[in-house]
Amino acid sequence: MDMNRRQFFKVCAVGLGTSSLAALGVAPPNAYADQIRHFKLARTIETRNTCPYCSVGCGLIMYSQGDAAKNVAQNIIHIEGDSDHPVNRGTLCPKGAGLLDFVHSESRLKVPQVREAGSNEWKELGWDEALDRISKHMKADRDANFIETNEQGQRVNRWLSTGFLAASASSNEAGYITHKVVRSLGILGFDNQARV
Ligand code: SF4
Repeated sequence: MDMNRRQFFKVCAVGLGTSSLAALGVAPPNAYADQIRHFKLARTIETRNTCPYCSVGCGLIMYSQGDAAKNVAQNIIHIEGDSDHPVNRGTLCPKGAGLLDFVHSESRLKVPQVREAGSNEWKELGWDEALDRISKHMKADRDANFIETNEQGQRVNRWLSTGFLAASASSNEAGYITHKVVRSLGILGFDNQARV
């Protein structure tokens, strides 16, 4: 190998420094071995979901701590794009990438609420009570306002006094079934939260 005098001194200096560090016990393999960090997602539970924000419907993986026992509260510690999802292939836009803050937000609504007629207060309801109330209101309104035929006597089967807003985090299958149920009731005012 050809090298000039300056290159020769550089090679000697590097070799001397490396061997001195090894002699002092701080050679790279030993130093790295002392610094092993535990993977923060080790021992977490993975749950797949869909980003709730927009109609792109990116797939997510949510990582939570807790062993799923009845007396243990699960805590989501990390959310990332699902690399196996055909829509986003692991990517998320800034809104989706900030989902962890959304999940832990103190102002996130977690239970059904109702504002009774004439009241300016929101009252919390149980899920069963909320679903019972919604179904009773829907039946009463449909019984009172369902339109079977138009002015020409043609059958139309419309229910125009109630609307339905579906969730953008639904899967294709859930969206298809929701559409079938809503349309079979005669509701025309039907939209998705992804467009709001
Ligand atoms: S990550 Fe962004 S693009 Fe994907 S569904 Fe959520 S808001 Fe839409």
